[in-house]
Amino acid sequence: MDKIRLTEVIRAIGIKGKLKVTKGMNKENISICCPLAKWRHEKGSDSRPSMSISFNDKGEPSLVHCFSCHFNGTLLSLLQAMSTYRGGDTTLDTLIKQVEKNDKITATTKLDNFQRGLFDEIAKTDEQLLAGNTKSFQWDDKELDRFKITKLPEYAIRRGFTSAMAKLWELGYDRKRHRLTFPIRDDKHNLVGLMGRDIHPDPKIKWFAYWNCPKGFYLYGEHLLDKSAEFIIVCEGMLDVIHLYSLGIKNPICIFGSYITEHQIQRLLRYGLPIIAFFDGDEGGTLASNRLNKMVEGAEMVLSVDMPDGKDPGDLTKEEIDTLISNRKLYKFKNLELDKLVNVNIIDQLF
Ligand SMILES: [Zn+2]
Repeated sequence: MDKIRLTEVIRAIGIKGKLKVTKGMNKENISICCPLAKWRHEKGSDSRPSMSISFNDKGEPSLVHCFSCHFNGTLLSLLQAMSTYRGGDTTLDTLIKQVEKNDKITATTKLDNFQRGLFDEIAKTDEQLLAGNTKSFQWDDKELDRFKITKLPEYAIRRGFTSAMAKLWELGYDRKRHRLTFPIRDDKHNLVGLMGRDIHPDPKIKWFAYWNCPKGFYLYGEHLLDKSAEFIIVCEGMLDVIHLYSLGIKNPICIFGSYITEHQIQRLLRYGLPIIAFFDGDEGGTLASNRLNKMVEGAEMVLSVDMPDGKDPGDLTKEEIDTLISNRKLYKFKNLELDKLVNVNIIDQLF
């Protein structure tokens, strides 16, 4: 990774302008404005700055924490979170891929400790940090009581929701913030998160993650998987899953965006079923398919469909979906000329 690329990464996670160095618990922290503020802070911005990056004994950044939205994780998981919120942001997904791929900093690259550590941390996965920590991501079912609905909001009806679907997916409503709520459950039916869809007309931020749920750990729809089915269908969005399921298509799940994590792959592989990449017909979808294929390389488990350009699973009829699935074939890696997708100007515009 050269210096320019590293600068892009630092910019992309929102570190620009002032960095505030603070002393805490015998260690130096760096505070930045939370790059997730747009999605996770009530005001949609952060001027405090609320996000703190702490350093380990070697002077490398280890933990990222936001005091406003309570994001907790590593720098890699921060990038992944941003990718999830932006939904199909190919620039950021490409950046993550490149960061993962380019895991060496040459001795000639002049970087200060902060930059070097930042890069090392991003290049690692966050498996270790979060391993054994999943207990704290379980919530009591009564947390959902305040979102209970007696009748479907107009928006849900317009989107084709029936009462039966709302019941199955435990659809709720956040009256205060005008959001439809979708609980996330793991394979054992534990409540592990809650997503909210803003139903104002033309909302700035469509999806909101309640309780700081680490979505990258889970698959939406996993609690309804049929282990004896022929395959698992992986989509990008929650509404895609609900759409497919309501059409009687077996085993749709989603990865909450176009970035599939190691955790999600591990979860998928436990079932030993072929995986059909059913991502959107755009660059984000192709990147997601490539990544999925690469991560289970050699397993010959990833199949793909010819999703029409510009379409996503939510647009398709049962006949179209059935045809795509019956014409599934072994996935072939598509070369996207990744370098061309990363454009510094695009990254700048995002903040
Ligand atoms: Zn925050």
